[in-house]
Amino acid sequence: MSKTKSDYDVLAADRDLYSGLVRLHVLHHASEEPIFGLGMAEELARHGYRISPGTLYPLLHGLEKKGYLRSRESRNGKSLRKVYRATPQGRKALAAAKVKVRELLRELMEGR
Ligand SMILES: [Zn+2]
Repeated sequence: MSKTKSDYDVLAADRDLYSGLVRLHVLHHASEEPIFGLGMAEELARHGYRISPGTLYPLLHGLEKKGYLRSRESRNGKSLRKVYRATPQGRKALAAAKVKVRELLRELMEGR
């Protein structure tokens, strides 16, 4: 396994604390390129989030139901997989969240 970008793995017990960050992370990648479940799980693992399919798939469905993502079936060799892209609503929500994240980051890291 390659070295992870994040030095700290998120503990299962602290998962609730990070649920919004995981959603924003998913939304960010879906706004840049089509994403699919397994690829996203690997990307999140790289950042130290171990998300099981049983958690990730409902999360993706939830974001789609809210209108942030839209899915379509994509052929991958012999199998079909579901790929997700951010919708205009998702991009708008992400842009608003970035302002909040920047503000939080400033306060957390610089104490102001
Ligand atoms: Zn990422």
